Formats: sequence, C-alpha cells, structure tokens
Amino acid sequence: MFVVKNPYNHEIISEVPTFNADQVESSVKTAKKAQPAWQQVKPFERFEIVEKFNKILSANEEECAELLCKETGKAISQARGEVKATTSRINWFLNYSQDLMDTKTVHIGAGVEEKISYDPLGVIANISAWNFPYFVGSNVFIPALLTGNAVLYKPSEFSALTGLKIAQMWQEADLPEGVFQCITGLGATGQYLTSSSLDGMFFTGSVPTGYKIYEQWAQKNMAPVGMELGGKDPAYIMEDSDLQKVIPTLVDGAFYNCGQSCCSVERIYIHESLYEKALNLFIEESKKLKISNPTDPDCYFGAITRAQQIDVLEDQVREAKELGADILLEGGKIHETGNSFAPYVLANCHSEMKIMKEESFGPVIGIQKVKNDNEALKLMNDSRYGLTASVFGDNLEEGKKILKKLDFGTVYWNCCDRVSPYLPWSGRRDSGIGATLSHLGVQAFTKSKAWQIRH
Ligand code: NAD
Repeated sequence: MFVVKNPYNHEIISEVPTFNADQVESSVKTAKKAQPAWQQVKPFERFEIVEKFNKILSANEEECAELLCKETGKAISQARGEVKATTSRINWFLNYSQDLMDTKTVHIGAGVEEKISYDPLGVIANISAWNFPYFVGSNVFIPALLTGNAVLYKPSEFSALTGLKIAQMWQEADLPEGVFQCITGLGATGQYLTSSSLDGMFFTGSVPTGYKIYEQWAQKNMAPVGMELGGKDPAYIMEDSDLQKVIPTLVDGAFYNCGQSCCSVERIYIHESLYEKALNLFIEESKKLKISNPTDPDCYFGAITRAQQIDVLEDQVREAKELGADILLEGGKIHETGNSFAPYVLANCHSEMKIMKEESFGPVIGIQKVKNDNEALKLMNDSRYGLTASVFGDNLEEGKKILKKLDFGTVYWNCCDRVSPYLPWSGRRDSGIGATLSHLGVQAFTKSKAWQIRH
C-alpha cells in the first residue's frame, strides 16, 4: 500500500494498493485473455460503451473535480475545467475515429486492388502523469479502446484515486472485464509493466523516466512506443506586439495549473524595444491571480502537487540570482506545511541559467531581453526539448518566417499553452516520440495491413 496525501495541507486522504510483480503479471494475463473478444466486438458497440463512459464522467463531473483538487492540489475551477473539457475531447474521438478505422481501397491498377485495413495493436500499457490525468490518460486509453485494444493503465501515484475512479466508471459503462485495468503503484510497478511482454507502450511523464522506460521496453518488446515527455517551452514577444493582449495570455500560459503543464510557457524572450513595459505589465497581471486553498472557487494558484519539485524550483531561482537575474516578483513556499507556492518572475536571465534550460514544472518564469528576431529564434531552438513554442506579434507574414524555422512539435501565433484534438500532439528531441490526438493519435493504436487482391 502507499499513502495518498493532500498536497495543500499534507493530510492523508487514503491508502492505495501497490501492485507487485506477480499482480502485474496476472493483470497482463487477464488483459491478453480479454482483448481478442474486445477486438471482435462490432465497432459501433465499442463506441457505445465509450459514449456511456463519457456520460458517466459528465454526470460525475463535480465528484471527479473535487477528488482531483484534493489529491493533486489543482485549483477547483481548473479541475472542473479539465473534467468538462475531457468529455468534449472524448466526443471528438467518438466523432472522428470511426472513418479512420475503415478499410480503404487506395489504388486499383493492372488488375490488382490495393487496400489498407487496420488491426488493434493488442494489449497496451498506458503509464501516465498526474498533472492532467483525465486529459493525458484519455488521449491514450480512449483511442486505444475504440480501436479494439486492451489497456493496462498505470496512473501516477500522485493521481491514483483519480485512476481508480476512472476504472470504476469503465466498469459502470459495462466495458468487458479485463479490457481496462488500473494498475496502481509507484515507479517499481511501472517497471514491472515495462518489462512485461506487451504490444505497445504509451508513456506520459518526465524525460528521465521516459529514457528508462524506452531502454527497458526495448529489451523485451519489438513493439510501438509513444513518449509524451517534458518541455521548456519558449515564447517570443516581437517588436510590434500589442502588450495589453499578449501579457495576460502569457501570464496564464506560464502559471495555469501552477505551471505544471507540459506546454506551460517556461521561458520568455522579449524584443528590447518593449522590454521594460512588458515586464511591468507581466508583474501587474501576475499579482491579480489568487493564491489560496485549491477548494476556493476563486483560487488560481492551488498547491504544487509533488513536494520534491519545490526544491527544484528554489534551486533554479537561487542559481539564476547568483548568475545575475533580477527577481521582479518574489515567490516561494507560503505555509510551513503543504505545498502552496507563490510565483516567481525573474528578469535579465540568460541561456546559461537552469531556469532557461531545464524544465521547471512550477510557477517560476525566466525572462530575457533580445535584440532582434534572429537572436530570439536562435535562443528558442537552442534546447534539448521541443514540445511547443509561441510567437506574439502583429505581422503574421513576419511571424511565419520565425514559426517555419522553429524546431518544435507545435508552434503558436498569438496564443500558447493550448491543445487541439484536430492536431497531432508531439514533441521533438527529448520531448518525445510519436503523437497523440488527430488521425495520427488514433492510428498509433493500430497496425496496418496491406491487401493486394488480383481480380
Ligand atoms: P514521472 O516520470 O515522475 O512519472 C510518470 C509515471 O511513470 C508515473 O506513473 C510513475 O509512477 C511512473 N514511473 C516512474 N518511474 C518509472 C520507471 N522506472 N518505470 C516505469 N514507470 C515509472 O512524471 P510525472 O511527475 O508524473 O509527470 C510530470 C512530467 O510529465 C513532466 O515532465 C511533464 O512535462 C510531463 N508531461 C508531458 C506531457 C506531454 O504531453 N508531453 C503531458 C503531461 C505531462
């Protein structure tokens, strides 16, 4: 068993089972037994079950949001937002997945008909993160189930109760037994899953864990891997930007969910002509956001989910200060017990500082002045991460010159920190492999079969 604590006050909420190696093996066996029959279920019946799950999720919106708020410290309004948005996301999958799965004739020539059909991968593992457990979980398990796979879902130990709630809702939706199983535990449980013989591994989490899983997985499995990892997402404010519009967007991009989003804005470059004005506005906007108990309906900054991350944030701030950064907004831990943490805003940062290089995953932001677009582009691309990058300005044609050269999975113009189901969600370099969402994120859970039929 392991203990689940409320990050806001460190009160113990519950104890959750830790799956050992034998239990994981037994779950794998159950999934392998259940999957072939699930694959045979008519697609529209699979869709009906997913639709039923979605209705149950919607009916349980408040309970799910309260649980999420309690176990991760997410502000309640943001927790409600996540659950609600997940139901829309699931509807998107229901509306757009079916056509993608249909067998298609792609060519007829020399008397031969050429077709592509799709089979499910089989039994897949979904090792997940805690920061948006409904979102990042459903990006994997919904298309995986719709396409006929069985899913071994390992929620993060920091969102285990949410994971169990998700499993309960699948049961209520009459998903056949064994097709979706929630495997609770710590990193070691994830390792048992990684060293099992499975048909796909879909991981969302940190870069170091991603590397470990990639290595361990390859020793046992010649099967697809999807990795959605960390980011150090840059934003650039061009010379002609309308700061009144840009700054509130950027403050929210940096601090939503206490900066614990994979696509949070983590470093900002500002054209020198706007630098001082932008900094003042940034501080002004940041101060408007309320830090309080996550259950407070007006709370913006809830609690940092993992207490250990506070050391990372403080170390980045300390080092930046030593290397010459100016602290424009002094943040830090608020109460002795609990993980409430006020935001930090640092200016005059440079690329040698950890705050501009390593993922912060918290409410701290480093800002740097640049002379021109070329300097901004060079700095933005100079990173081991490649998840998202945003550019703000007035002239889209000038902006496109930068956007085209940004080496990131997603580029934004006058927006940031947003995910659309119509578009592939993918990271470059250390930010990951493969994609969720869009047609790519559905076909990722299938294997193609090429048919050549001579008539
Ligand atoms: P984490 O890597 O600490 O843990 C993720 C999961 O891996 C957990 O379920 C954990 O129990 C499990 N795990 C830990 N060690 C393991 C091992 N050796 N083998 C197998 N499983 C193991 O990450 P986290 O703190 O839960 O999540 C935060 C990270 O996730 C951030 O870096 C964030 O950027 C990233 N993230 C990325 C995306 C994306 O779409 N790219 C989305 C959300 C979060």
